[in-house]
Amino acid sequence: MEQLERVLETRELNVSMGPQHPATHGVLRLVLDIDGETVVKVTPYVGYLHRGIEKLGESLSYFQALPLTDRMDYVSSMTNNIGYVNAVERLFGIEAPERARFIRTMVGEMARIANHLLWLATHALDIGAMTVFLYCFREREWILELFEKICGARLTVTYPRIGGVRNDVSQEFLDSLYKFTEEFPTRIPEYETLIDKNRIWLKRTVGIGVISAEEAVNWGLTGPTLRGSGVPYDVRKYMPYDAYDKVEFDVPIGTEGDTYDRYRCRMMEFRQSNNIIRQCIEKLPPGPVMADAPKFTLQPKDKMFPITHPTKKHAFYIDEKVCKGCGMCARACPAKAIFGEKKKPHKINQELCLSCANCYVTCKFKALKIVPGGKGLSEEKLRELAAAPLPEEIKNAAGHLVEHFTFVKRGPRAPEGELYVATEVPKGELGFYFVSDGSGKPYRMRIRAPSFIHAGVLPRLCVGHLVADVIANIGTIDLVLGECDR
Ligand code: SF4
Ligand code: SF4
Repeated sequence: MEQLERVLETRELNVSMGPQHPATHGVLRLVLDIDGETVVKVTPYVGYLHRGIEKLGESLSYFQALPLTDRMDYVSSMTNNIGYVNAVERLFGIEAPERARFIRTMVGEMARIANHLLWLATHALDIGAMTVFLYCFREREWILELFEKICGARLTVTYPRIGGVRNDVSQEFLDSLYKFTEEFPTRIPEYETLIDKNRIWLKRTVGIGVISAEEAVNWGLTGPTLRGSGVPYDVRKYMPYDAYDKVEFDVPIGTEGDTYDRYRCRMMEFRQSNNIIRQCIEKLPPGPVMADAPKFTLQPKDKMFPITHPTKKHAFYIDEKVCKGCGMCARACPAKAIFGEKKKPHKINQELCLSCANCYVTCKFKALKIVPGGKGLSEEKLRELAAAPLPEEIKNAAGHLVEHFTFVKRGPRAPEGELYVATEVPKGELGFYFVSDGSGKPYRMRIRAPSFIHAGVLPRLCVGHLVADVIANIGTIDLVLGECDR
């Protein structure tokens, strides 16, 4: 018997799950102590994707830091942008026009649906259900195509802007979105039919990763991860921003606080978000989409740069007598249209030139000349026209362009002080904390990212369960490491 016990003796094993494990949703590394198949200890390690967004934000103007937020939770960049612009607007003391607030609410809810679709697809796949993955990507693609229609980008959108949104939405976009809202509620039961009462799904989710309401609050959980435990906290209800106080919606909650309840919460949120989008389309008021606060906002491009407007075919020409050959313009040219040797006059290849005017604002020797309507003219003609004085209208526009360049670079000056602004992103509460010293850059930018807080609760959810349940628990908190390692 003693010999048999010695043969069957088990020891705790220390194994690493991730950072490349396909089910750890990014570069999360979990070090597990396991006794047979049972998890006795979990230590999460993050930081493999560290991007230093908070520090970068402190070295850029408020305008320039906006695209960084796309890269946090890249699954739902639209809501990160919305969180950031809301915080900066509060800091500047400006407000977006009503139409822009409705548009932001609408696109934010589209992002919530797209996020939950990816979450459901990967969570189901992790647990062993393949078909749901394919169904969810079908609808997610639809939303991403709609994003492409309004801003040309699918993932890193940078569509919301400080003071409003980048551009207005077209009637064609609204019609396509309305069609989506009609169709989408018929697709949700398709997912539910596959897994809602599926024996395997129930075995893998019911009673797994249970956390009580009190504990969930103490761990700082937010979003569906908290609401699955029965706490109806939702920033959209408690501190409404954009147009959330003008639309009606419910906050779905669970009762048991397990993986299944969190799944059900997100499924119900699909319907609520769809409903909010419909209300936004129906109530969308007319009006501008950018606040009338030129000291703090970027005005529409065609208003600001008539000299670079695509319908105005202006040419740019380098005055060889003035050019010092420093090469700054060549480095700034996105089309690589400027060439020349160091310390010798540079030239522009007119066929490659995009008339973006980057060279014009970069050259500190004023060697760049604008030739109004000069696109397509010969070198000789350009030289001749460049010598003529500029019309007053173009002169002013060129001045605006230079002003705009320095405005973006230096940024509008924020009042001194500090503030924290929270918004409800699909994963929970996303907060931006700024300390301003009155300059054009934040003295301190700190981000409360839900994924970072939720990564901390993994040991609490996993201990006592089987190794396979670790995968379900990672999925249930909907973690994205880009945001965790911001
Ligand atoms: S930046 Fe001005 S001076 Fe320098 S190479 Fe260009 S045109 Fe010449
Ligand atoms: S206008 Fe723009 S594209 Fe044309 S040469 Fe200057 S920087 Fe290059």
